[in-house]
Amino acid sequence: MNIARPFCYSVVSLKETFPRPRVFRVREDYDRGEFVSRSWEPSGRPPIGRMILGVVAILLFPCLPAIEASMEDRSEGDDPMKTARLRMVRDQIEARGVKDPRVLEAMRSVERHLFVPEREKSRAYNDTPLPIGYGQTISQPYIVAYMCEALELKGGEKVLEIGTGSGYHAAVLSLLAKEVYTIEILEPLAREAQKRLESLGYRNVKVRCGDGYKGWPEEAPFDAIIVTAAPPEIPQELVNQLKVGGKMVLPVGEEIQELVRVTKGEKGIKTERLLPVRFVPMVPGNRVETKNHF
Ligand code: SAH
Repeated sequence: MNIARPFCYSVVSLKETFPRPRVFRVREDYDRGEFVSRSWEPSGRPPIGRMILGVVAILLFPCLPAIEASMEDRSEGDDPMKTARLRMVRDQIEARGVKDPRVLEAMRSVERHLFVPEREKSRAYNDTPLPIGYGQTISQPYIVAYMCEALELKGGEKVLEIGTGSGYHAAVLSLLAKEVYTIEILEPLAREAQKRLESLGYRNVKVRCGDGYKGWPEEAPFDAIIVTAAPPEIPQELVNQLKVGGKMVLPVGEEIQELVRVTKGEKGIKTERLLPVRFVPMVPGNRVETKNHF
């Protein structure tokens, strides 16, 4: 953060404007009833320029925090998308209570504007879900961060995501875990996401086109599972593919949905209701016509 410099400048210029000895001298003169032009300069003229500077400095002093904030934003150089992204994390995510520093860093790092269609780019860092085609949406940034935090990932995990969509949430997860497996039922979305993740260098993500209700049995068990479309109830097959001690975060319900965290124990599952939410439905595999599963 290069705020230190301009702030130092303002201190220096204040010092230069009112050098200590001169201020004392003026005061002495005043005390002696001699507050006359002679006490300023040999020429007898008061330093109007310096006085104006001083007044401006005093007036600006209360605004320093705002100036600091705006310089902080500008200090990110000329990348307006980065500026918008940092602001998104600060105002939408941290401000709502997400604290995990790894999650916040991942949200600062993944370029959401590269995961949305061209026409949505200008809204990429808004506090909202956005359409990604085929009737689907990329989730609101806060919800992505909230769900990631709820999984309590440490970095060494194998994670399964159901509902790849644009690949954005998978990219965020890839920075928080060791490996990410993600399943998308709509083939064009799966292909686009796979290409996008590859070209952006998210190498620890594998995309599959298929029915998320079946999970990814060849790679099970998973330390964590995240579902980004809403099933009417918790899918048993996904619970089966979760490790004992593992966590699954998913929206559950139809009209009314809730974000739920499932923790798998030796003897069964514990469920916690986290937040009311609205996700696209998790559709049963037999209702979607997909020519090429991969
Ligand atoms: N996580 C995504 C957003 C997901 S939107 C992102 O970051 O962009 C939910 C996605 O779930 C949609 O793309 C939808 O096609 C997919 N989906 C719905 N039912 C599914 C199912 N049974 N199996 C896999 N994907 C499913």
